[in-house]
Amino acid sequence: MVLSDRLHVRTILLNGVMTLLKTMFPGVNRESSALGFGCMRLPLGEDGKINEAEAIAMIRKAIDNGVTYIDTAYPYHGGESERVVGKALKDGYRERVILTTKLPCWAVKTHDDMMRILDEQLEKLQTDHVDFYLLHALNAGRYQEMKNLDHMGFFEDALAQGKILYPGFSFHDDHPAFIEILHDYPWKMCQVQMNVLDGDYQAGIEGIQEAGRLGIGVVIMEPLRGGLLAQPPADVRAAYEAFAEQRSPVEWAFRYLYTMPEVITILSGMSEMGQLDDNLAIFNKASRDELTDSEKELYTDIKNTYLSRMKTRCTGCAYCQPCPKGVKIPDIFRGYDRSLLREGGCFKEGYGKIAAEQADASRCIACRKCERSCPQHLPIVRYLQEIRAECEA
Ligand code: SF4
Ligand code: SF4
Repeated sequence: MVLSDRLHVRTILLNGVMTLLKTMFPGVNRESSALGFGCMRLPLGEDGKINEAEAIAMIRKAIDNGVTYIDTAYPYHGGESERVVGKALKDGYRERVILTTKLPCWAVKTHDDMMRILDEQLEKLQTDHVDFYLLHALNAGRYQEMKNLDHMGFFEDALAQGKILYPGFSFHDDHPAFIEILHDYPWKMCQVQMNVLDGDYQAGIEGIQEAGRLGIGVVIMEPLRGGLLAQPPADVRAAYEAFAEQRSPVEWAFRYLYTMPEVITILSGMSEMGQLDDNLAIFNKASRDELTDSEKELYTDIKNTYLSRMKTRCTGCAYCQPCPKGVKIPDIFRGYDRSLLREGGCFKEGYGKIAAEQADASRCIACRKCERSCPQHLPIVRYLQEIRAECEA
């Protein structure tokens, strides 16, 4: 977010009384803030590890200002996110939030692994239960594996023992797979990717509406498309500025989501205190009024502008990392897409820097390990070679 945007929302923060937008989770009878704290991008120190003092201060400030939803997962920050969240939720903070974490399905080889991993997570989180417990990053194949290992029996046991309160899943696959999983179990929540660019991608808006019809609460991830929507190209920024109502690009991105009636909570992976302040200000003045026709037109124009120029649609999630040959796939894809969005943009210089770090596409041996991990199902090897050819030409 640029400085002028920050000043804009901070003025609102200073002048307003903090009353964050909140909604009840259907079928669960728990109220959640529309802004959720995603703990996958916590602030880092110079050593590349989580800056614990800053992360804990941010999580507690969020809760003190009305955030009641905290999201983490087993693999975030190499397993350290859950441990830091556990520290942040001491001193009475745990009782004030809905706490979600996720079962790393890819690490589950036997039925007993599920309870063993959950117990490990509860220990790291320093709690006797989590509220929502999700099967992490489901796709059709992974869900079948979980069924074969009897995840339903696991949920039954974990619920009976009070270690989890509500089962759910997070999702990265296509719409038919989403509908099949959604109808296959009495889920209490689903976490899906949605943002201005992804209305017809993965679960899609129709999937979100179906979850609403079934009374399953929807939590949103990737609301800013890996930060892409927070730093729009010049023509998109001009379109926002020409609109009658003035909002920052981040506020426009969140507004697209919190006006969807099925959406209960939107996760934001906050890395610095300024982002938290900005988000608090946005959700303090947010309301669930419907989008106007002119707002819908604006979102359609913005989406078309982005999608007509992007190539990879990589979100930068880094699930494809580490590559055995050290290829920095997210840096290459996101740098390339961002260069396409800039007028006259060129990625040769950025690619050259990555090559100097010996992390460029020339090192790829096409083992396709990355493609098996990519939740967006991107043809990574082909894209790498095409970008390499262009940048080395
Ligand atoms: S296919 Fe290439 S980029 Fe992907 S993991 Fe293998 S070596 Fe790395
Ligand atoms: S290539 Fe796929 S897995 Fe890797 S960062 Fe991009 S979206 Fe994530």
